[in-house]
Amino acid sequence: MRKVLLLGATGSIGGQTLDILNSDRTSFCLTSFSVGNRVSRIPEILSSFPNVKHICVKNRSDYETLIKQYPDIAFHYGDEGLKEIIEQADCDMVVNALVGFAGLVPSIVSLKKDKILCLANKESLVVAGSLVKEALAKGKGKLIPIDSEHVAISKLLSKVNIDDVEEILITASGGSFRHLNRDELVNVTKEDALNHPTWGMGAKITIDSATMFNKGFEVVEAKWLFDIPLSKIRILMHDESNVHSAIRLKDGTYIADISKPDMHGPIAYALFEKNVEFSLSKANSLEEFGPFHFHTFDPNRYPAVKITTSAFEKGGTALAIVNASNEEAVYGFLDGKIRFLDIERVVQRCLDDLPLIDNPDLTETIEADKKARGYAHKVMEEYK
Ligand code: NAD
Ligand code: MG
Repeated sequence: MRKVLLLGATGSIGGQTLDILNSDRTSFCLTSFSVGNRVSRIPEILSSFPNVKHICVKNRSDYETLIKQYPDIAFHYGDEGLKEIIEQADCDMVVNALVGFAGLVPSIVSLKKDKILCLANKESLVVAGSLVKEALAKGKGKLIPIDSEHVAISKLLSKVNIDDVEEILITASGGSFRHLNRDELVNVTKEDALNHPTWGMGAKITIDSATMFNKGFEVVEAKWLFDIPLSKIRILMHDESNVHSAIRLKDGTYIADISKPDMHGPIAYALFEKNVEFSLSKANSLEEFGPFHFHTFDPNRYPAVKITTSAFEKGGTALAIVNASNEEAVYGFLDGKIRFLDIERVVQRCLDDLPLIDNPDLTETIEADKKARGYAHKVMEEYK
């Protein structure tokens, strides 16, 4: 039986992870979890998972109320609390379903503590892939992706000889505005941006899908997970989100992973570390999927991908700057402070203007993140 710590239990990935843990009480036991601001969900989670002994919340005020309410549970709060819960809770598997930079330190601490890390938080690999890989190499931990494209790629790669692989094709729906050209993006609204055509996800990744920063991040994520050069990773536009990714072999054969666009499937694959039947995400026949539509990716329509891959090539703190300024710009857009197209502008400005540090350690990465957030706010003031 795996003892599980779930970080980000109230989010989209967190909720679907709870469904899976709930469906198999013999393979998993939830011993600990974290929530952000939605502390009102704690009683409901505790009633389904009575073995929980540690909970981390975001705010100190919530912590102070909860320690009086639940004297038998150890509470933690804030960024320090996320570290403590990994160190103190009885767990051998950490599911990191936090969104954004907040997930980085928990990923590194989990690997340093030799945990099996099931990683939905792609930002960890985007901002500090080399530090995450270093923690993995030095310890006895394991790194398992949850992102659907990367679960698909790991399944496909496990079935072929790596020397036969010509390229990896990461599929992309194109997000909420895929039918609009760039001129038509000028005045799009937050409500429209949050209306993803094929997936139901948290707000930040839904906006990242519309700009396609998400796809740029996934290219970098694939590089770190599979040790494949960026030149061998290609984005393929695919309308239905049924092909989760594909590989092209040197003889011209394509092998694709086809299943429903439902994250329960990839999360279950990561948690069980194998293919398991999970009824919510299962299709019974190939006909259920209908026709497949593929298109060539247009880098001019989605400059966020180039911004991300060029930052990867620059190295150092470039991707920490891209990630931090993107996070601030996304929340700025959601708060009505800037327009949709300003998201890319803010990120590009931060990347152009801020100095880079080579081979940053964790402290320097955190510092670069903080500075980029401050600068992104200054830039956003200009775009108001
Ligand atoms: P979400 O916004 O629905 O949930 C995020 C969770 O993180 C929430 O529980 C929130 O309270 C918590 N959180 C955020 N900031 C925090 C902080 N500073 N301290 C403590 N807790 C904090 O996000 P999501 O859509 O579930 O995405 C989570 C991660 O998974 C992201 O990195 C995303 O890119 C990745 N991902 C999501 C999907 C999906 O279908 N939703 C698919 C693939 C990958
Ligand atoms: Mg994905």
